[in-house]
Amino acid sequence: MDKKFDRYITIDKIDYVVSRKKKKKYECIFCEIAKRNPDVNPNIVYEDEKAMVILNIYPFNPGHLMVIPKKHLELFEELIQDEMNYLMKLTQASVELLKKIYEPEGFNIGINQGEAAGASVLHFHIHVVPRYEHEFGFMEVAGSRVIVEETEDTLRKLRTHAHEIERYLKE
Ligand SMILES: [Zn+2]
Repeated sequence: MDKKFDRYITIDKIDYVVSRKKKKKYECIFCEIAKRNPDVNPNIVYEDEKAMVILNIYPFNPGHLMVIPKKHLELFEELIQDEMNYLMKLTQASVELLKKIYEPEGFNIGINQGEAAGASVLHFHIHVVPRYEHEFGFMEVAGSRVIVEETEDTLRKLRTHAHEIERYLKE
């Protein structure tokens, strides 16, 4: 942590920042997933030669997906047109997949660029988070979310319907 920024860190952020530093076993976890490192649990929902869709293991809501190019790049502005088009299409496909399974009332679709913006992995990725009017199944406990659905169950549902992504990409 850069000393000059200490005063901007609030108490509830400290745990998060510390645990994030400790977790860093690999240079880039998404590159390890793309390389199929057997020691990394990939949670892959869909993949092809260019990109992948994985389930976030620290989800904001069940079904929180990340759309990730296999090539390591960190900046949104580095994406070339073809990559941009493809990742956007895959993001749309991920939205369609989540609509099929969870019927959410809304989505957060977004990019956190740089650690200052909350990116815990610098490898470019797009978050797709299903949202609900009343967020049934959740409660706020001491500032952290309790997620009712098990990751394994979410993953099983997503993989069962992953053909929806392929179908959408072909449209
Ligand atoms: Zn990477």
